[in-house]
Amino acid sequence: MKIKRISLFSIPIDVGMELTRYVSSQEINPALDVLVVKIESDSGLVGWGEVCSAPPYYLPELSAGAREGIRHVASIVLGRDPRQIAPILKNISAALRGHGNAKTALEMALWDLAAKCHGIPLVDLWGGRVAESLPVLNVVRIGTREETLAQFEAQRALGYSRFQIKVGAGEAHDDITTIRMVEEIAQPHERLWYDPNRAWLVDDAIRIITSLRDLNPLIENPCDTYEECRTVAQRTGARIMLDEVLDSPQRFVQAVHDQVLDVASLKTSAIGGIEAARNAMRLAEILGVPVRIEDYYGTGILLACVTHMGHTLPKSLVYGLYDYVSDDLPLVNNPLKVINGEIRLPDKCCPGLGVDVNESILGNPVAVLEL
Ligand SMILES: [Mg+2]
Repeated sequence: MKIKRISLFSIPIDVGMELTRYVSSQEINPALDVLVVKIESDSGLVGWGEVCSAPPYYLPELSAGAREGIRHVASIVLGRDPRQIAPILKNISAALRGHGNAKTALEMALWDLAAKCHGIPLVDLWGGRVAESLPVLNVVRIGTREETLAQFEAQRALGYSRFQIKVGAGEAHDDITTIRMVEEIAQPHERLWYDPNRAWLVDDAIRIITSLRDLNPLIENPCDTYEECRTVAQRTGARIMLDEVLDSPQRFVQAVHDQVLDVASLKTSAIGGIEAARNAMRLAEILGVPVRIEDYYGTGILLACVTHMGHTLPKSLVYGLYDYVSDDLPLVNNPLKVINGEIRLPDKCCPGLGVDVNESILGNPVAVLEL
């Protein structure tokens, strides 16, 4: 069996940018797209992957880099037996440093195809499901006090118990007020954390966290760089969730060593692709660090991939997945459904990722790479 063709499709997507700290960066507001990768084998089996690259003010990569990265390593992939996936992945890794967005989409499609060749769900190719279901998080966007409370209550009513609350758009005292308000209505079974998206200066972060010491809130990626986040953790003892500064599995180890990683958000594009994220998941299990498994954005293909990944861990180690599925871009005909704030793979999951891709909305490929 051989891989005979790689086709790339680009579909515009509207992620719905909010007015946050990024406003000044949004003078160049890049159009975002979902890059869909279709890998065909000579057996007729097909693998699917996708990536929605983040704007370059969020992650240090360009959307164009995803397709160029895939094009760059296509000759490594074409002609190979898709069942022999480990050596293909090692060759890709050796040939292409960085480009976590390219590796996210390409590695996802290769894994989907490999599992289909074996006729089993991807989670089974990875050794079988450990968790029976996984928690899904919801995002409470920046708003007035009333808007924040209304969003929080609406999500609770749907059964969610994990909430990422966005802060960092205004002054430090605004964030102190928001965090105190939300923490005081949180219930014991709920998990909440606050994400300024790197907006806080070290001094802001120390001031905010110190004034909330009685509540000991979990703070996501408070400052711009890893080193600043580490300083905040060391100076305050705050509980920290790192997100976009986790840029490699090695960084994950360093962050645990530096005691700045209570929870990890593994964004596949940021950390270096699906394989890098899976390596970080192994470290998370060894070192006992709960993880989110996600990417910047996506559709039902990414949701299926992170759900298969998450099911290989004990449920207690999965802090929350993100539900990307939206009616605006129905790329998958059978998206996984979030029920009562949880997601699970169906008992009779189809081989591979189990996604039925709606090819009618792909349009013409932007690139076709073939033998
Ligand atoms: Mg974040």
